Amino acid sequence: MRLKVKAFSHIYVEDAAREHPRALAILKRFPNSQVVFIDDYQNVFGRGRQDFWKQKASPKLILALKKDNFLYAGNDLLQGNQSPNFCYNALVLNCPYDCHYCYLQGMYAGANMVAFVNLEDYFEATNQAILSRSDPENPLHLAISYDTDLMALEGKLGYVSEWIAWARHRDDILMEIRTKSARGRFFKEMEPTTTARFAWTLSPEAISKRYESGAPGLSQRLRAINSAAKAGWRISICVDPILQLPGSDGLYKEFVELLSKELPWENIERVELGVFRVGSTFFKRMLKRQDTDLLQYPYEHDKNAVSYKREERERLVEGVLQPLLKNISKEKIFVWT
Ligand code: SF4
Repeated sequence: MRLKVKAFSHIYVEDAAREHPRALAILKRFPNSQVVFIDDYQNVFGRGRQDFWKQKASPKLILALKKDNFLYAGNDLLQGNQSPNFCYNALVLNCPYDCHYCYLQGMYAGANMVAFVNLEDYFEATNQAILSRSDPENPLHLAISYDTDLMALEGKLGYVSEWIAWARHRDDILMEIRTKSARGRFFKEMEPTTTARFAWTLSPEAISKRYESGAPGLSQRLRAINSAAKAGWRISICVDPILQLPGSDGLYKEFVELLSKELPWENIERVELGVFRVGSTFFKRMLKRQDTDLLQYPYEHDKNAVSYKREERERLVEGVLQPLLKNISKEKIFVWT
């Protein structure tokens, strides 16, 4: 079932951001929203006793200025962390989609979305990070769409276009834009660049329908990937998280067969595989979710993370990895187990 989100009836704007040109431009795209000025975004976004899932059905947008922490280092649960120059930023907090396995449900007090409008400060911080990267022989590997799906918001925010324009003529950065979106037209209209790689997350259609509420289905994502490939964009694929469910072995078998036929393999430079995993603190909060069976599995709680047992993790990954080797070489497949 696809979630119908009635989004952004209200837009909260931090006083410090009210004259910012990007805030003014975004407000113009929401002529019917009620605008409310606030002192500090945390007074709305971070306040106590919010109902995450109730808000998810009708989230509000908050426009704010990010004051510090423009870049974060990777952690052991993130895939891109395998690159020595990896870092990520948080341009938007929370996501318009509602994947039942998503750690964001346990990360924030509510489901309203914050968009930081001072991208110029992020660009400056990124310039500094490029200069001090640990492996200067390789570009900075910056993920710009981690705690959200920026492409799903592109029509309203335009942040992906802005970052691509900023990075287009550089040779010292590779931006990764992780997405489940299906904006095929974007790739036809914008000139491709080597400094950006789009990383599509794909799941079997039945899993997408049941557990990725609001996100485009598999066939729509495959169409967008093919449009991007045809236009010459850099592409990677993430089958992450792989889930253990009744009948999932058969589902993933059919899914990989479909990917073998439908993906433009000659254009795919990297595949990432990983099983469901989430930090223990976030998981405890996610368990309050009432409308899913996904979180009720007898997961293993190990150190600070919740996932399947090691043998299950390896079996699930192997079930996808082995048949994929018909399409792409092993050196291009990166696995989190
Ligand atoms: S698309 Fe990604 S960030 Fe958005 S809800 Fe799903 S898993 Fe979370």
